[in-house]
Amino acid sequence: MNGPASTQGSSPAGGGETGAAQDAAVSQRRAEAIHDFTAKLRQSGMWPKVREYVDWQRKLRGARRAKQPEPERPDLVPLSINLDLTTACNYACDHCIDWDILNAKVKYEHETLCNQMREMAARGMRSVILIGGGEPTLYPKFKEFVILLKELGQQVSVVTNGSRGHKILEIAPYLTKGDWVRLSLDSGRNDTFQRMHNPTPKTLTLDDICAWVPKIKAVNPHFQMGYSFIITWKGGTRDDVKIVENIGEIELGAKRASEAGFDYISYKPFLERAETGSEVMDPDKIEGHMADVMQRIRTGIDAARRYEKNPDQPGGFSVRESTNLRMLMENSWRDYTNQPQVCHMQALRQVLSPHGMFNCPAYRGVSYARIGEMDVNRDAESVRATAGMTAALLDNFDASDNCKDVTCLYNSTNWWLEKLIEDGSDLDAVEVLPDRRDTFL
Ligand code: SF4
Repeated sequence: MNGPASTQGSSPAGGGETGAAQDAAVSQRRAEAIHDFTAKLRQSGMWPKVREYVDWQRKLRGARRAKQPEPERPDLVPLSINLDLTTACNYACDHCIDWDILNAKVKYEHETLCNQMREMAARGMRSVILIGGGEPTLYPKFKEFVILLKELGQQVSVVTNGSRGHKILEIAPYLTKGDWVRLSLDSGRNDTFQRMHNPTPKTLTLDDICAWVPKIKAVNPHFQMGYSFIITWKGGTRDDVKIVENIGEIELGAKRASEAGFDYISYKPFLERAETGSEVMDPDKIEGHMADVMQRIRTGIDAARRYEKNPDQPGGFSVRESTNLRMLMENSWRDYTNQPQVCHMQALRQVLSPHGMFNCPAYRGVSYARIGEMDVNRDAESVRATAGMTAALLDNFDASDNCKDVTCLYNSTNWWLEKLIEDGSDLDAVEVLPDRRDTFL
């Protein structure tokens, strides 16, 4: 699943790279571009909404300081959402941090959900990540819904457990360049996959899942397919369940992914759900010597890079390290836990699930991060009311306290927005970038 980690981290040196070092540097820059939310927000198609938000925040703070009437609120419809289509799941993954909200009775009313998409798209929403809290392909009208999103001009991505490849095959003709589908596989061997994921049917293997990839690519090679690998280690737990370790299969995952025809493999560290409800990294729970674990990860990923092929060519393949994995290995993760008091990203990217609308993927299902009901933004009146609820959370959700243990992907972007709001600089001077077809936040 998507979760906060960071846009920063060590950049590779700009020049003098050769051979493998150059490949690694290119790969790292590619990974950073995916998580460079500040650059994404400065794209010409995104910036006007961001500028409207910054402008409103400046006026709002000014009015409050001067004890003047507050300015009119903008729509505050997010530019991008994470959408949990269903809470139903046909797996029982040992490392699932959404365990408590799965397989609930709550469901969308389909036509209302479609209206929500229409209302938000009309007001500037640019992309939808179909993800979970639940397996999105189990949504009964999955294909019809993806077609609607594409008709609304949305970029679409799907995070799936991969068990229903026929459903991805059905939507493949409708996806376009810049869209992506990522399969959460987290292993290199069939038996490890089954022990980690407890799939239904029980006999389902990585071989079965990967066999769909060439068929899907044959229908449409223009969107990216990714193999997601959450790295787990001894000591990690979900509630009291000890999770299966997969650290020894990092290279095998890359071999399998490249041979199956995936475009990339992405490695992330295992996150846990803290008592406060947020998703956090807890390196202290790594059993044994942390440096040894980090070295095993480094060795595994270096070996995985042997399978890289120029990703700009057909049949290419890249290895991506998530920003929070790099933070963990560089031991810089605490730098990303210092958030401004106001999380501005909660106005620009939200999570819609059958449990309601939430402010952040790190707080899916958490009551104090809830913006509203599952049918928010269903019509113009509801959009106004939802903007009020978002504004209330901007005032009341203290990210500097609530998120002090979260290594936040959006940390530098939040600080950039905070500075823009407070320094009063000329917004015309902000460099607006060409659209690069990446509006996922
Ligand atoms: S600061 Fe905002 S984006 Fe980051 S974890 Fe907190 S709520 Fe999420």
